[in-house]
Amino acid sequence: MQKKIEQRLRYYEDLGIRVFYRDRAGAPHAEEPIAEKIVERSAGPSMEEMLLAKRKAEMRATGKSAAVPEVPVAQMFAPAGASLFDSMNKVQDDTLLKIQQDIGPDCTRCKLHSGRHTIVFGDGSPNAKLVFIGEGPGADEDAQGLPFVGRAGKLLTQMVEAMGLRRKDVYICNVVKCRPPENRTPEPDEVEACSPYLLRQIDVINPKVLVCLGAVAAKTLLQTNRGITQFRGQWLEWRGRKLMATYHPAYLLRNPNAKGEVWKDLQKVMAELGLQGPKKKLS
Ligand code: SF4
Repeated sequence: MQKKIEQRLRYYEDLGIRVFYRDRAGAPHAEEPIAEKIVERSAGPSMEEMLLAKRKAEMRATGKSAAVPEVPVAQMFAPAGASLFDSMNKVQDDTLLKIQQDIGPDCTRCKLHSGRHTIVFGDGSPNAKLVFIGEGPGADEDAQGLPFVGRAGKLLTQMVEAMGLRRKDVYICNVVKCRPPENRTPEPDEVEACSPYLLRQIDVINPKVLVCLGAVAAKTLLQTNRGITQFRGQWLEWRGRKLMATYHPAYLLRNPNAKGEVWKDLQKVMAELGLQGPKKKLS
């Protein structure tokens, strides 16, 4: 009997149960197993907690990890991109011109209007198979009314050319069309106000591949708060199109070592679009 009790107590200890309460009603009945009586009256963990603790103890004993299996990237974003579009009525016979007219020359739908000089709508081929989406215009873009024309823009042009394309072969735009003050990240209300125009632009152009440059573009389209490093460089589906998220060229200017990663991402895009390209590395 003594041995049995010791075995039981070791078992409960393995489960993490170390505090026991005596039965105040008196000594247990001779035929009643003491350990079972103890556990009945203990204020210990619930059955689920005990089972979990037992499972962990078993895993520790077998050397297996108790970590939750990783979610495949493709399953992180379901339904991919649908929610944002679901709340919008699709515009019949939409065109880029119509979208630009709907925004208007003096849009005040969000607070970014107060600091901008120019609304930067987008630039490139209306039939592009490849669309690059950034975050928002900077000072140079705000001054010229064109996306990606500053230092980061020059790097993007190099990236496009390294793929064997010209800027005019692709379409380039941003999540917000007006420059955020001090180039800060657009705020959620600003993204919400402006992103319907981006979604219409994508719908009208109907590209085969979307490349999100940086976290803001990726998070806006994918409707996620996950960090871009969790899905960068991996193909995702977005409303029947392929979407690749990679680093923003402005990030590459600050972290040139990341250019190799971006080049690998762009090579995947090239393969998807059947581009041979000069295949020179990003300098
Ligand atoms: S960012 Fe977009 S919604 Fe906001 S003012 Fe500019 S064009 Fe209008």
